[in-house]
Amino acid sequence: MSPTTPGTDLDALVEDVESRNPGEPEFHQAVRDVLRPLGPVLEAHPEYARARILERLVEPERQIIFRVPWVDDDGDVHVQRAMRVGFNSALGPYKGGTRFHPAVTLGTIKFLGFEQVFKNALTGLAIGGGKGGADFDPKGRSDDEVMRFCQSLMTELYRHIGPDQDVPAGDAGVAAREIGFLFGQYKRITGTYGAGALTGKGTGWGGAEVRTEATGYGLVYFVREMLSARYEDLEGRTVVVSGAGNVSIFAIEQAQRLGANVIGCSDSSGAIHDPAGIDLELLKTVKLDERGSLADYAERRGGDVALKEDATPWDIPCEIALPCATQNELDAKDAKKLVKHGVKVVAEGANMPCTDDAIAVFQGADEVAYAPGKASNAGGVAVSAFEMEQNASRHGWSFEQSDERLQATMKQIHETCRRTAAEHDHEGDYVAGANIAGFLRVADAMLAQGVV
Ligand code: NDP
Repeated sequence: MSPTTPGTDLDALVEDVESRNPGEPEFHQAVRDVLRPLGPVLEAHPEYARARILERLVEPERQIIFRVPWVDDDGDVHVQRAMRVGFNSALGPYKGGTRFHPAVTLGTIKFLGFEQVFKNALTGLAIGGGKGGADFDPKGRSDDEVMRFCQSLMTELYRHIGPDQDVPAGDAGVAAREIGFLFGQYKRITGTYGAGALTGKGTGWGGAEVRTEATGYGLVYFVREMLSARYEDLEGRTVVVSGAGNVSIFAIEQAQRLGANVIGCSDSSGAIHDPAGIDLELLKTVKLDERGSLADYAERRGGDVALKEDATPWDIPCEIALPCATQNELDAKDAKKLVKHGVKVVAEGANMPCTDDAIAVFQGADEVAYAPGKASNAGGVAVSAFEMEQNASRHGWSFEQSDERLQATMKQIHETCRRTAAEHDHEGDYVAGANIAGFLRVADAMLAQGVV
């Protein structure tokens, strides 16, 4: 660690993180984003600096990396790399999703795990932060191949997880099918029905109502609060969403329910503009049931709707933009286009989808309210924590009950961000509010628990 004033020189700390974690630019970016507003907080609380809270926060408590061999349908053997990072357990067991994507590296999982620590703190629930994943591409794989991969992965992972230790869930590339296979193998190896060891399970066998919809619904509930703070609502607003996966689809569903007109979305093949409003049933059929591409949606939708290949949806004029696909998918050029077209609210459904430069553009535009993912997409992990609660009590909640708790949680996160920003001279700045509030909760718990 740097020999400068213990725990207060944030530039030195960022340099330290960069040199100790080479080749992990997304992790560096996430650390910079969280640290940016913390200078005055550390000055006001020398006890955090003395206890080296920040130096401990940027170092994961543990990182597990392992080989996952599996056999495809033709009998060929493949070798994947999987990892699970337990970032911080000051508030509860490690909690965070699992991503399957060929581009996954340890740096990706560390950035996601680091973000998760502060996101989970913001929910007010008893969950620490962690994340996992593998460089496995489920695209184009049969159900049997996905099952064999999941079984091989769990054959190592099972010894590192459990309801009081680490509780994985889904993320990009991991949804109900994968969680089912992972849980089946966990149950088989441990010989217990350890429902609380994984969340995102099917509602018929230990899963929580609303978990599938929670991130997208929660994002729109958060946007409703942002609008309400400006005495506005969603009725009649034009919305553009990126991605067409779990988060995007249920954000579209809830935005439509609240009266908005969602006119664009995207996937890895390109973007579509559907001025009459996305046909949600068709989108679900193509993307969720058939695992197809938006080209199929455009073809079946007909009219003027066409896939613009390899494009983002950010040149479609809209009042509300919801980036829900992946990290760094929206850059300064996109941000300037959105601002020029009159965007009023930008709220992240994905983790870190806006580059630093894009965030600067939004924050420099007086009319734009911008919310970081650790606040606006926290609905997914909140309902995962509700699932843990239900598993522990062996009592299931109704859809309405879960949805009400989700709405209350998003309202509370919004209020926490607003109040904290105002208390620290960052009125209206959701980034500062989220990072400071998340940090304070984790830092106080770490301080109380001693040097561990
Ligand atoms: P999915 O895999 O279900 O969906 C991701 C969507 O984004 C897909 O439509 C995919 O296209 C598209 N996409 C991925 N990469 C690109 C790219 N480079 N360019 C354009 N489109 C792309 O993932 P989720 O919806 O679960 O997750 C999306 C984001 O939300 C991630 O950042 C994740 O970490 C975050 N998140 C997810 C939570 C959850 O509960 N699932 C909780 C909180 C955050 P295609 O369909 O062609 O693959």
